[in-house]
Amino acid sequence: MNLHEYQAKEIFSRFGIPVPSGAVARTPSEASRVAKRLGGAAWVVKAQIHAGGRGKAGGVELCRSPDGVGEVAGRLIGHRLRTHQTGPDGLPVQAVWVEQASDIGRELYLSLVVDRARECLSFIASSEGGMEIETVASTHPERIVTVPLLPDPGVPAYVARVLGRGLRMEAPQATAFSSLLAALEQCMRATDASLIEINPLIVTRGGELLALDAKVNLDDNALARHADLAALDDASQRDPAENEAARAGLNYVALDGEIACMVNGAGLAMATMDLIQLKGGRPANFLDVGGDATAERVTEAFRIFRTNPRVRSVFVNIFGGIVRCDLIADGIIAAFKEVAPRVPVIVQLEGTRAEEGRRMFAESRLPIEAVSGLALAAERAVRAAGEAA
Ligand code: GDP
Ligand code: MN
Repeated sequence: MNLHEYQAKEIFSRFGIPVPSGAVARTPSEASRVAKRLGGAAWVVKAQIHAGGRGKAGGVELCRSPDGVGEVAGRLIGHRLRTHQTGPDGLPVQAVWVEQASDIGRELYLSLVVDRARECLSFIASSEGGMEIETVASTHPERIVTVPLLPDPGVPAYVARVLGRGLRMEAPQATAFSSLLAALEQCMRATDASLIEINPLIVTRGGELLALDAKVNLDDNALARHADLAALDDASQRDPAENEAARAGLNYVALDGEIACMVNGAGLAMATMDLIQLKGGRPANFLDVGGDATAERVTEAFRIFRTNPRVRSVFVNIFGGIVRCDLIADGIIAAFKEVAPRVPVIVQLEGTRAEEGRRMFAESRLPIEAVSGLALAAERAVRAAGEAA
């Protein structure tokens, strides 16, 4: 689960990670009131969405008056913001974070991640703050310092020294920097986060350390023991189809292609998407209906496909091991009666009672094309999508 920057900064404050003074606002007038209350001569207004790249997309603006803050908030709130991380439709902005502007001396990068390869937590730091770490990794890998932590809680002094040297941290900041690392590590463990990223971490001209941005990913599997954090979930930041699918118990991931896929089993679903790509098409989604696919779930899947305007064909690929193909066929036929797709449907059934399933499609006289052979069926689904476009 992702948090908004304003939620992450509130958590940072609780753990003693220094952040600029600020508050969240949901209307333009609230935003300018926040600016007045904070005081100062300049403020930064930041669109709250579950994506980065806001700075370059007009989602982070410096304002010199509370009225200006209100104007920028009015331009952002209630609109969608598109950054290079959001996909073409952008994400809805329902709130802004207003904070006192900082006098930036240096911008640095600091994160704490669950390091799967080393099976521990690792700090990652770079002197190139404000840039995406992936970019730095490909252009200047030598500017990234990674320091793994031992399993015991706490940040040993040598970790602060190694990171501090990598960031060219100066003597006056040494104490604040090691406290920040300790607070970050406590925050990570206490929230069961899988990632905490501060980009940029700044050193102000006055020599103060501040987390100017805050990105926190929480481990979904640990949310059961963090009711307070789970309540911070913002479903508006996810694809609506993914929310609906989650409610129906479907394993669904939205993608941006044109061929809707319904498959049983995650491995087969991955292979099916590869095959579609190989035949020159692009999958509209990942969908694993599970080994215990029911008619209701199949119907729900077709309902979700219908809401996606990009879909040009539906490819159903079922390998009946535990599930019986005739039951799946039953589900698809029932789904058709309730929510007939507007695009061609290609079905490939193999395994237990596949013959019966295919016969049921033929007898239903519905526009369902049963194709035998995975490669052939994928090819047909890709061609059908092209014809429907
Ligand atoms: P992101 O683009 O979504 O990652 O948003 P950030 O919070 O990282 O902001 C983007 C950039 O805006 C930062 O790298 C800073 O250069 C700039 N910025 C943010 N807050 C301030 C501020 O208080 N003062 C100044 N001068 N620049 C800021
Ligand atoms: Mn950032």
